[in-house]
Amino acid sequence: MKKILILIIMSFISHINAQSIVPWTEQNGTLGLGYPVPIPVDTPEAFDGFRTYDGLFSKHQSLAFTNDYITGHIVGQTRNNRDIWAYILSDEDNTTKYGIKEGAMLINGNIHAREWQTPEVMTGIMELLDANSADLSLHQYLLENTSIVVIPVNNVDGLLQTQRYPEQNVFTTSIGVRDGRMRRKNMLDVDENLSTFDDYLLGVDLNRNNNPYWASSNSSSFSPQSIVYHGPSSQSEPETQARITAAHLVDDDQIRIYTDVHSYSKVHFSVRTDNSARTTLMHNLLQDFSNHHVAFPANKYYQDSPSGPGSGIGSTDEYFALTYEVPSWTLEVEPGGGAGTEYGGFGNDGHDGFILPESHIKRVREQLSQTFMVAWYEQSGPPSITNLKIVENESTTGVKDTLIDDLSWDIQGDGSRVLYHNEVRSLIIGNTYRLIIGFDKPMRVRNEQGAIAHLQGQGGYDLDPNVTLSIGNDVINGVSGSWVNEKNESIISYNYYKDDTYVLEFTIPENITFDDNVSLSISIDVADMVGQKLDANPATVVTWANGQWQNYENDSGENSLLGGSDNSYLFTVKASDENDLPITVLATGLYFDPTRSGEGFSYELLSESKIWLQWFTYDNSGKQRWYSALGSYKANTIYIENLSQGSGGIFGNQFDSENISYSDFGSLEIIFTSPVDDGNGNLVYSAKALFKDVNGKKLRTEFKQITRVLGALPSIIIPPPSVTESKSALISGSWYNQNRSGEGYIIEVLVDNTAVVLWYTYDLDGNLMWLLDSGGTVTVDGDKINLDFDSLVVTEGGVFGAAFNADDVNRTPWGELHFSLSCSKKTGTLNYTSSINGFGSGEYSIVQLTHPLIDSSYNCDQ
Ligand SMILES: [Zn+2]
Repeated sequence: MKKILILIIMSFISHINAQSIVPWTEQNGTLGLGYPVPIPVDTPEAFDGFRTYDGLFSKHQSLAFTNDYITGHIVGQTRNNRDIWAYILSDEDNTTKYGIKEGAMLINGNIHAREWQTPEVMTGIMELLDANSADLSLHQYLLENTSIVVIPVNNVDGLLQTQRYPEQNVFTTSIGVRDGRMRRKNMLDVDENLSTFDDYLLGVDLNRNNNPYWASSNSSSFSPQSIVYHGPSSQSEPETQARITAAHLVDDDQIRIYTDVHSYSKVHFSVRTDNSARTTLMHNLLQDFSNHHVAFPANKYYQDSPSGPGSGIGSTDEYFALTYEVPSWTLEVEPGGGAGTEYGGFGNDGHDGFILPESHIKRVREQLSQTFMVAWYEQSGPPSITNLKIVENESTTGVKDTLIDDLSWDIQGDGSRVLYHNEVRSLIIGNTYRLIIGFDKPMRVRNEQGAIAHLQGQGGYDLDPNVTLSIGNDVINGVSGSWVNEKNESIISYNYYKDDTYVLEFTIPENITFDDNVSLSISIDVADMVGQKLDANPATVVTWANGQWQNYENDSGENSLLGGSDNSYLFTVKASDENDLPITVLATGLYFDPTRSGEGFSYELLSESKIWLQWFTYDNSGKQRWYSALGSYKANTIYIENLSQGSGGIFGNQFDSENISYSDFGSLEIIFTSPVDDGNGNLVYSAKALFKDVNGKKLRTEFKQITRVLGALPSIIIPPPSVTESKSALISGSWYNQNRSGEGYIIEVLVDNTAVVLWYTYDLDGNLMWLLDSGGTVTVDGDKINLDFDSLVVTEGGVFGAAFNADDVNRTPWGELHFSLSCSKKTGTLNYTSSINGFGSGEYSIVQLTHPLIDSSYNCDQ
């Protein structure tokens, strides 16, 4: 009886274990979904549905082709020799805008073939960053200050197999659904034909193939037919090796976060280790992630379900958690445990959770992508102050908006920062000032009405910084301010991204206890969009190591998990400004750094606020360079947002202005300081210039005026001009030939009635070239002014930037240049003869392009 029963049961099992190909269906049935079975569409463009691998791949490739921030890298081949790609989303350099090595964010998609949600989310991340790569806010910040490494499809062979059979899989009663649409593993020893049943259970679970816990638990198996087969050895699979190669696209010390994106169950399977700091920070990070995501209208909450430390299953997140000691987890994309029922489906077979309805993928793709930006913003690092400025609102000297303090944390060669402080003059009791505070990341977002708001799902911090200004024990009350989302050529302007800068107004009270050594101290307490407080000591740069931020000081100056407030700033305060002289941008002329003879600036003040500036310098190999820009000035400060560098010109007849193009070179800020008596009763003004290249690298120089242009404003004394002076002064400015836009001549007639010319052009090979003669003679004949320059020189040998040495500059005689210009018509001619082979001689008609502000007592009619 017993025996018979066993026989009957055994024959029943063999019967029901027979494999058959069973389709998923919309209608009710064994594999009835209750919603349409998604069929991938061969298109690169995102839509309300799933794309084929080819569609996704061509999208990735076209993004890499069209967006300079996206580059593709082949990081290995699959079992079936298909390329596995990783994409780096970042700018070209490896450093932030402030010279710090970028943190890297790693994300892996579609390691399990059937989890179609994941390559869509990976692609959504790339699409989101592409669409917002010039937003001057969160996304552009991430692209320019971090390196994001995306592997959209790790298991290419597997995904292709699932898409070959989008509705079908092999079904047995005891095992359930496998292969076809429900393939999980890679294609080791598997053919691509679903109806050959001898291999349909094979393949390696790539998420059990990893160090350090490979083959150490019951959650993986030595059986090649197991759904969790861990492979013949640790990291045996080429897909595993490709992921490790992708991680090596950045340096080990850059990696700050890893996510392996799976579906489904709407959970963070985070990896715990014995490092409690890492546990705390990862918990905060996942909380910020989930709080952001649940705040979308769909209200999807991702629960953290951490592992216990010290053991594992051979998954990829364990590898990254333990190799790099960074937040590392497996994200199981929705649905939650209810699988298809979460979308109104039948839920007949729990595997339907892998089949997200087409009507939901757009939302999942777009909103999870946005939530990843939050996690990466957090792991880009806690905020720190980069610069402060103080501007006078009014002063008794009569010049508004004088910049009196300029502070900045400059990165040094050894990786630390030093606080640069240009104190133009002291604060005065009773005066009102604006304090501008710059941060190294965008600190706030705005709502649709343009008002500062908490980042979605985040809170627990004040929207305004708490800035405490105190003099001794007296705290200055009534301080209020606003975030800055405007970029313009003025002091009240953000650094690189909207709302990375805050400005507030304060008045030094009249009633403070005053003694000679009184100073104003400033303490700043603020958190970034995800609630991370400031690095209290910016002198030591925050990095990530050993599972937490390093050099992230709190108020006591100790390394911490949560940071503190920055109290690094002191300013001198005086009782009165009665001896202060007004400080303004000096008049049109030539300027140079006495320690950098052989290069210099020329600028013209064109109006009350506009300036035309040229910088005559060198490249890194000693060749001449000139840069020009139209900028702004106010009080004692010149702002140039974009210096541009021309290219495409050539000397002589071959020149064609159609070939000239311009590229951005960087920004320039020039601050004039208080004049110093030279001992002979002459006031000597100097200025401090800060050049930042397009990547934010700084060069500081200090310069003095070399030439004073006749009649130029502002001027302290305008002597009544002679007839000759009256006319010749008006030809100072920029001149050019209208058919040769892209080269020109800067002419300055000086107070001693000599003239200077700077000819900015190209050499015979098309390199930038500039020629200088500072000893021109001026003769006036009626309306005609003749300038004769007999000894133009060309220079070479200087080096751009800190390595410049004036002794390296060689000056070679170039030839002669003569002008005959009409004062009233603003037109004229020039001719030149070069003593250098090839340049020959020539003649052009020219017109005046710009003329500097000249006192009105100078005119052509005398
Ligand atoms: Zn998975």
